Amino acid sequence: MNGLIAAISTAWGESGISVVRVSGKGSRDLVDGFFRGGVSLGETPPRFMRNGFITDNDGAEIDEVLAVWFREPKSYTGEEMAEIQCHGGTVAARRCLERCISLGARMALPGEFTRRAFMNGRIDLAQAESVLGIIRARSDRSLRSAAKCLQGSLSARVKKIDEELLELSALGEASLDYPEEDIPTLEMDFFIKGLSKTGEKIRTLLSSARSGRFLREGVRVAIAGRPNVGKSSLMNAFLQESRSIVTSLPGTTRDIIEEVITHKGIPLRLVDTAGIRLPKDPAEQEGVERAREAVQKSDIRVWVIDGSEPLSDDDLALSTSLQGTCHVVALNKSDLPQAVNVTDIIKILPGADVRVISTVSGEGIESLKDLIVLSSAGITSMDEDLNTTERQITEMSMALDLVINTMDSLTAGAPVDTALETLSEARSCLGRIIGVDADESLMEKVFSSFCIGK
Ligand code: GDP
Repeated sequence: MNGLIAAISTAWGESGISVVRVSGKGSRDLVDGFFRGGVSLGETPPRFMRNGFITDNDGAEIDEVLAVWFREPKSYTGEEMAEIQCHGGTVAARRCLERCISLGARMALPGEFTRRAFMNGRIDLAQAESVLGIIRARSDRSLRSAAKCLQGSLSARVKKIDEELLELSALGEASLDYPEEDIPTLEMDFFIKGLSKTGEKIRTLLSSARSGRFLREGVRVAIAGRPNVGKSSLMNAFLQESRSIVTSLPGTTRDIIEEVITHKGIPLRLVDTAGIRLPKDPAEQEGVERAREAVQKSDIRVWVIDGSEPLSDDDLALSTSLQGTCHVVALNKSDLPQAVNVTDIIKILPGADVRVISTVSGEGIESLKDLIVLSSAGITSMDEDLNTTERQITEMSMALDLVINTMDSLTAGAPVDTALETLSEARSCLGRIIGVDADESLMEKVFSSFCIGK
């Protein structure tokens, strides 16, 4: 992880400018090796931009650029850094990068700049992940929440909980180390109450984190229903353009198509599933399996019903599988004479939220999108401070389970030292969220999804 690294940090392709970044000790001198300005970077204070040319091996000018350097530790990575703004387009930026490489830098790995920022203590792991949250933000709300996480809002909440667990652990340790001394023996009730309070805080954090994941990764919406009810048409109506094939032959949408739209600031990841029904051939079998899986993994299911036909056995089977899950019902084809009404649906799926829609006339489509957002956000209010990843949520849930286990085992009379071990595992989960003692595999997991140059 040491040495000079360089990468083009802007997107590839034609653009006004491209930025080539260099990080590591000696970045400034490396750039001076091929930057020709009135004044070299060596004679320029940090963060002060210079205009000049970059040159090739023979001294011929390649491009007119702006160059700047940053003194350690006041840079993105916390190391000495330099940046060159050359003209956009692949050639100028690539030549500039090649010059950096020929003068001793190596190509940066994906996310390596941010990884160095983490290694140098500039940001913690949760903040590093929020950088990706900003890059990938699909709506203003996701962007705002990721920016707040970058400022440390999630990390601060995790650290606060960890401190509480540390205090409780210290209390437990004291009772073990000095059982006969005048340090008060552990008062079990007090200890358990403390655990319960902290557990509650983790629970609250977790529920905000889950909604935070919606902001970051989008709400997974599965569009389900038997063949020919209008699932693909609904998907297209949502997207307002024809992407999946709409046909009147049942069972033709065999693959799973995912598209992202943003509604009320929440990204909705729409999954159109192959018609769930008894498959007639192996290809269809596979489609049906995948559809089932997508429906299972989704955060909310939109059950599409053809209102122009009486409910079939396939419909009824689906309604049973929806019970106990987060779902809404779209009663489609309202432009045709109706054979099913809202009351019929409520009878088989009590309490269901139903919208009458037509993908042909457009009736009810906006209202259905509102309902999807409302139902998914309704699980908990969207917390604008959080932009969480699946990884962070997993660690939080494990921490919560371990705290609950500790409480349960103490209540059941288990010895304090075993309880302390479980508590320490819970603290490790929290530690991994912000990257305390992060090992190679954890960093690999986090940074491998970054782009090169970030
Ligand atoms: P899927 O198999 O559930 O994906 O259904 P499709 O979206 O392929 O639609 C099946 C058939 O129903 C097609 O012929 C569509 O044109 C038609 N269809 C879909 N929605 C409506 C609607 O709201 N009104 C009417 N009249 N026809 C619709």
